[in-house]
Amino acid sequence: MGTITRRDQGRFRSFPVEADDHFFTLCRFSTLASVPRNEYAVPFREAFMAPWPNQPCPHSNCGQQILDLLVEMVANADQARPEFRALVAQSSGGAITCPYCQGAVEYTEDSQSLVISTRSPLRYSRVKMELRARDYGIHKSPPDLAMTPEQSVAEEKLMPGALQAYTYAEDGPP
Ligand SMILES: [Zn+2]
Repeated sequence: MGTITRRDQGRFRSFPVEADDHFFTLCRFSTLASVPRNEYAVPFREAFMAPWPNQPCPHSNCGQQILDLLVEMVANADQARPEFRALVAQSSGGAITCPYCQGAVEYTEDSQSLVISTRSPLRYSRVKMELRARDYGIHKSPPDLAMTPEQSVAEEKLMPGALQAYTYAEDGPP
């Protein structure tokens, strides 16, 4: 646990595949930024501060590699909360679900690793996730109009198996 430091993460991020993925994300972002959809519009600053932990989930029944915490998928109302700010800053004080097992995870004080959290975790917005999946599908060649959040996160975020039977924020407490 916690063997991957931020410096390692930076090195990993410079691998060609990761760079391409990141570039692709930036391109997609610039397209999406012009779409007049309130719920979808990610504040510019936060889009570029989104944590890419690239660490295994600390929950022992999971252990899946979390490449992206998908914090931009938290509902806009929840993004005003201090817990969200803590997550974006990669500091302790806010928990979010693991995209795979939905267990609560949060950063350690020193921002180095993800640990199990006892806090009630922030959850992704179904509306946002479905919009994102649809948008991703529409821009595929050929377009896939039936793209689900599970499929898009597997393809776009390289996290197959994430969001299976996920309890979204709109679904109420799990
Ligand atoms: Zn997990």
